[in-house]
Amino acid sequence: MENLALVFTELNRMEVKSIAVPEPVRNQVLIRVKACGICGTDLHILKGSYDSSIPLVPGHECSGEIVALGPDVVSRRVGDRVVVDPNIECGHCEFCKAGRVHLCRNLKPFGVFRDGGFEQYAVIEETHALPMPDNMTFLQGALVEPVSCCIRGSQMARFKLGDSVLIHGAGAIGLLNMQIARNCGCAVIGVSDPIPARREKALELGADFVIDPIQQDLMGIVHRYCPDGPDVVMECAGKTKLVEEAVMQVKRGGIVVAFGCCPPGEYARISPDYINNNEITICGSFNNPVTSQTAITEIASGRVNADAVVSHRFSLEDAEKAFAAFGTPDSLKIVIEP
Ligand SMILES: [Zn+2]
Ligand SMILES: [Zn+2]
Repeated sequence: MENLALVFTELNRMEVKSIAVPEPVRNQVLIRVKACGICGTDLHILKGSYDSSIPLVPGHECSGEIVALGPDVVSRRVGDRVVVDPNIECGHCEFCKAGRVHLCRNLKPFGVFRDGGFEQYAVIEETHALPMPDNMTFLQGALVEPVSCCIRGSQMARFKLGDSVLIHGAGAIGLLNMQIARNCGCAVIGVSDPIPARREKALELGADFVIDPIQQDLMGIVHRYCPDGPDVVMECAGKTKLVEEAVMQVKRGGIVVAFGCCPPGEYARISPDYINNNEITICGSFNNPVTSQTAITEIASGRVNADAVVSHRFSLEDAEKAFAAFGTPDSLKIVIEP
């Protein structure tokens, strides 16, 4: 059996080549991968700015069909259509014991510290192979991981009925966070992005207003919709400067969520006095602790339109082209179908 794979062979080098089909051991299942999305994390891994272990088959936003079982598997069958929850927690550290598995001290994510989904055959523990509803496509399955991260974001943002929200960045993640904010009952949602096509997409998917932060007076427009500022500002563009600005944009008593992956080593200048006097909360949102099932439900029910944030689909042979397309102005989520 051939297993075509995209391999990060060393820093800044990738290669599509045939490698051995992995053997499912213990409670692992072997998956014939059907779809796997490219994430900003994959590029950070390639450049060496994200902790990982290279050589590596990256890819952690993955769906597929089970084709073989390890000897101890009890809960899955050959033929099951599944999505991968990539975050393999250790189960015995202080954080795992407290149910905060995403903060596990010994997290060994699929596609980061062990081979992931940019290959035809991948192995994953049965506990992290989650069944997909019949009406969910493999393409949608590849969006479960990013959506589950956004659901974590909504928990950190404490979205509630009637909230006003400003989202910086209308890439795939900004657009998903926007839809989830709406589903949580937020009433007024604005999205800021310098790229016209992305603003267009945000309006299509239900933004109340969009802003070109380069050409327009961002806060002038925001104040038309929410005079005291938004209850929540979410940074989804990965720009340190925007987190800094968000602190000054959010309503008194509001919440700033640093969601985007900003460059490591950069720092934002914020005034503790201002945060104190205005009771601002600044928080992060990391991974997807036990939100995968909700993500599956949200996508399968159509409440989150996952298809709308997919801009490109590539075969595994064209994986290098897929990575080249990442981050270009007309790109949103790029999915490889091995
Ligand atoms: Zn990701
Ligand atoms: Zn742990």
